[in-house]
Amino acid sequence: MLVMNPWIFGAPALVASGLAGMTAYGAVHPRAQLFGPTICRTKSAKQLALTFDDGPNPNVTPKLLDLLAKHNAKATFFLVGKFVRECPELTKEIAARGHVLGNHTDTHPNLFFCGPDETKEQLVRCQEAIHRVTWAAPRWFRPPFGFRSPWLIEIAQRHGMRTAMWTSIPGDWRAKPAEWLIERLKNIAVVRPESAPRAGMPVPLASAPSYGPVICLHDGDYTHQNGDRQRTLQALAYWLPRWRDLGLEFVTMDQTL
Ligand SMILES: [Zn+2]
Repeated sequence: MLVMNPWIFGAPALVASGLAGMTAYGAVHPRAQLFGPTICRTKSAKQLALTFDDGPNPNVTPKLLDLLAKHNAKATFFLVGKFVRECPELTKEIAARGHVLGNHTDTHPNLFFCGPDETKEQLVRCQEAIHRVTWAAPRWFRPPFGFRSPWLIEIAQRHGMRTAMWTSIPGDWRAKPAEWLIERLKNIAVVRPESAPRAGMPVPLASAPSYGPVICLHDGDYTHQNGDRQRTLQALAYWLPRWRDLGLEFVTMDQTL
């Protein structure tokens, strides 16, 4: 009687599930580089890049701009094209105050499910909306929900944009009290070297400078205009002066290169 090796039957399923796992990793994990290069950290442990998605939002963005100005902090705003068309003056003001504008698609779809044509359309429409208002095209792109497809990053590159992800996404969209978000942001300032040297061992020069975080927060709500992001403002009002006191420097995505 012929005994079949169960591996022969199991192998295709294993390969398929392995590929599915790889695809999910490449599409979702913020630091995955499988589908192309992304930037998700700053150059130094002392540098903190604040990024804000889903605006501009007339209910929140002006207050956020004042708060950032009070602490002399520059940030990067990933804007949704449809909101840029609704708020051209606010878009202009974000740029005029020295912040970096990024492209966050036109209507905030999950690009993992968009083909190359639709993806290109989403990026170009947002790019045009921002260019029409500021006379400058963004050089940064962030995919909605962080979802990437195999063609996305190349399309962004072709339109002059690097893709920005994040080190930390505290979940400021969740309906929780500001205290919860303040607590979630506590670990940001803890500077962790990439590989901690062992006791008694000399610190190799190359590993001495570590990297700093890119934090993903939200001044808008992609589902509707005038979304409530008070907890984000409250948490930043708490942390901005403290981060400054800890010696952290606020940088834009341009300064992460
Ligand atoms: Zn978003």
